[in-house]
Amino acid sequence: MIPRAVVASKNPDKIVEIAELLAGVVGELVTDLVWDDVVEDADTLAGNAMLKAAAVYAATGLPSIGDDTGLFVEALGGRPGIHTARYAGPDATYDDNVTKMLAELTGRFDRQADFRTAVAYVDADHELVVEGVLRGRISEERRGSGGFGYDPIFEVDGSTLSEMGRTEKQRLSHRARAIRKLRSELAQLPSGG
Ligand code: IMP
Repeated sequence: MIPRAVVASKNPDKIVEIAELLAGVVGELVTDLVWDDVVEDADTLAGNAMLKAAAVYAATGLPSIGDDTGLFVEALGGRPGIHTARYAGPDATYDDNVTKMLAELTGRFDRQADFRTAVAYVDADHELVVEGVLRGRISEERRGSGGFGYDPIFEVDGSTLSEMGRTEKQRLSHRARAIRKLRSELAQLPSGG
């Protein structure tokens, strides 16, 4: 058990999901610390997740967990990929991004996509990075009211992530898959995590 750790994110939607997924491995997730925004200029999700975790570890001295997510759409040659947050522009909202994605795929039948999350962990003695992937497709329109980001248009087995209950998303999501791997790596550290 890691007594205290920080999630290197200022996105409350992600923090809530990560906190649930780390239950039992991290005693307390500290959320009231501040740090300067991290420049995410690596060219991979894993690189950006590590930049965030390392910067927040340097700023807080607490074990830090950084994540970075990308949506890789086959018909768009893998775009928006590492640029998923700013797909519709530097100040894009979730809704702007979804609108642009639906517009770009109008009339396309090949709508396969991967959601990928890299999660990095940094403490005084360890640097780990893991990745989780969820295969799905971009739906033709928004459906459902749960979740955040691209959830209303990311479909798995006929349901969008927004249509699934929170428990179901937490069972199969890209972020859940990455954090399950992190949990097992932390459990194998010599200190027992
Ligand atoms: P980042 O990891 O915060 O950089 O996320 C990149 C983009 O993917 C942002 O636009 C997020 O809203 C979106 N995103 C991240 N995780 C999820 C998710 O679980 N569901 C839907 N969209 C997500």
